[in-house]
Amino acid sequence: MFEKILIANRGEIALRVQRACRELGIRTVAVHSEPDRDLIHVKLADESVCIGPAPSDKSYLNIPAVIAAAEVTDAQAIHPGYGFLSENADFAERVEKSGFAFIGPRPETIRLMGDKIAAKITMKKAGVPCVPGSDGPLPDDPEAMKALAREVGYPVILKASGGGGGRGMRVVHTEAHLINAASLTRAEAGKAFGNPTLYMEKFLETPRHIEFQVLCDAHGHCIHLGERDCSVQRRHQKVIEEAPAPGISAAQRAEIGAVVIKACEAMGYRGAGTIEFLYDPDSRTFYFIEMNTRVQVEHPVTELITGVDIVKEQIRIAAGLPLAYRQEDIILRGHAMECRINAEDPERFVPSPGQITTWHPPGGPGIRVDSHIYAGYRVPPYYDSMIGKLIAYGADRNEAIARLRSALRETSIEGIQTNLALHRRILEEAQFAAGGVHIHYLEALLAP
Ligand code: ADP
Repeated sequence: MFEKILIANRGEIALRVQRACRELGIRTVAVHSEPDRDLIHVKLADESVCIGPAPSDKSYLNIPAVIAAAEVTDAQAIHPGYGFLSENADFAERVEKSGFAFIGPRPETIRLMGDKIAAKITMKKAGVPCVPGSDGPLPDDPEAMKALAREVGYPVILKASGGGGGRGMRVVHTEAHLINAASLTRAEAGKAFGNPTLYMEKFLETPRHIEFQVLCDAHGHCIHLGERDCSVQRRHQKVIEEAPAPGISAAQRAEIGAVVIKACEAMGYRGAGTIEFLYDPDSRTFYFIEMNTRVQVEHPVTELITGVDIVKEQIRIAAGLPLAYRQEDIILRGHAMECRINAEDPERFVPSPGQITTWHPPGGPGIRVDSHIYAGYRVPPYYDSMIGKLIAYGADRNEAIARLRSALRETSIEGIQTNLALHRRILEEAQFAAGGVHIHYLEALLAP
């Protein structure tokens, strides 16, 4: 096992990784930007290194600075968390070439899954059902593009092959808008991801977002930890997640789980990963959309129903240890639900940075709070606005909801604006409480 790990991230996930390291008896190195020196995990780390000024590209995305910090502190492995460098294949490669372990998949796998067209082709070959579409890059020729869209059938969605974070996507309802939409999306994708390549998919009107968590060791052994439902979204960004997905039978879970494991084994996957699907409840069909090669924000809901510590497993896998579980050891118990707490204006959804004057976290049976904030902490304007996650576990979905409602009522954050009121509202909605809402549910609820 490693003796010292460098945590190449900030905020709640840096703290989460630090907690896992401490449990495993591993010392930690925190790297941080200038304004982040007051983060809890920085104060609690065995060592800390300032790697640059506030802008991410000068600090958290600064590969030479992160590697230099690992060198001067003699760290043996680097945990990238989520976001930032976590899905950057060049970074993973540099980490390994510099003699450190990268706590994540092999660089080739990250590169393959980061190219969403290549990912779909790989999955399709492995027998994973995919959303019908272009099966490759969108053609440049307008007539070919129109013919393809007609074949796929409107509405279609244009997506950036290098996209992520819910950006670089555009829905097209009629042929009249297709060519213009493609050139706009191409320009945006080129600017945002340095890759203008697009692909086309059938736009599914009322699907649910259901994703499978996998763990694979470096010895070819893969298991899945069941699924999560992340259908409560705004602008393709998840707001509430839960596990298991309401209404998915044990037989369906076993069937898709087996397909997913087979695909991971075929590509020699290593580490924790998530295979995302859109699920059509009418035909009860799963369609692959993408694979995320990192720990996800919503990993706690899976941890609560399986008892598996996903971050500790990531570290164990990177150290070359075999998985501590076989598939038959994974038994789903109860139900878990997570609310992402954002520092944002509740009406306009723009970030609301500033100093937190009051922070009262909730407690009681089945409540988990993953957050780095404290009273007096200043939420900086430079990074993601998520400041923490409230997670509730219950014997069943109703108990998880009751506990989450109560936790939301207990929680108090003052000094900045947050989306707590939005969560309280959603948790009171009858349709949400019934379970199984589709991905446009929240935006319809918010529509004036
Ligand atoms: P990203 O990597 O940016 O998260 P995804 O491919 O995972 O992109 O898609 C994010 C979200 O966009 C999905 O959860 C879903 O809400 C929506 N979406 C993506 N593809 C489709 C599609 N073919 N039909 C309908 N919605 C889609």
